[in-house]
Amino acid sequence: MSMKNEKINYEKILKRLQTEEFEAKYWCNTSCGTVTADKTHLMIIDEEISIKREMFKVQGDARFCSKCNNRISDVVLDDKRLVNSYNQYRTKNKLLLPEEILNIREKYELSAKSFAQILGFGDNTIYRYEKGCLQDKVHDALLKQISKPYNFLSHLNESKVNISEKTEKKLRKKIEFLMIEDLKKAVEELTELMKKEEIVTQQAIIPNYNNISMEYNISQPFGLAA
Ligand SMILES: [Zn+2]
Repeated sequence: MSMKNEKINYEKILKRLQTEEFEAKYWCNTSCGTVTADKTHLMIIDEEISIKREMFKVQGDARFCSKCNNRISDVVLDDKRLVNSYNQYRTKNKLLLPEEILNIREKYELSAKSFAQILGFGDNTIYRYEKGCLQDKVHDALLKQISKPYNFLSHLNESKVNISEKTEKKLRKKIEFLMIEDLKKAVEELTELMKKEEIVTQQAIIPNYNNISMEYNISQPFGLAA
């Protein structure tokens, strides 16, 4: 399957959600029972969410029943707040953010499925991580490691990967290109560093006349005053 086929049509989904919004039904677990969307309203709430025994404060929209003001479960909104708390957990524990995982995959021009297969994860794992699911710490470490092309090449050489010959060939070409780019950058940085080093060395050789004139000024602070 090509990457283009897997791209999600967000506009289409958004349009569908907006249409469904008016027809959507929710469940209010008081005597109200089933309520339609127009009998509900949104409100920003503060919430504390526990993730792996750590508490995180989250602010976001939640749905309420307009009849009795009871909070109603709303999969989309509740998920959004959960993802927010996951991102706080990630930042605190120095784990990759969903968009960082996406960036690594896009750098190698791989589909979510191929990327997962190469790393030995379940087929949908990368897709779920990019959508906001909290990643396994071991998976996170591997993702960070292979974000460097050289390491990804080693992984590709040392592991038995379950991808088509065509995909592997294309990937190897891409990795090679990225490695050359990294090397070019390193050479540039080194040249820059050596230039700076040269300037520092030259400055060290030139006597510091500034200090000499300072001493002279201090000994005769007001010039002709004596
Ligand atoms: Zn209600």
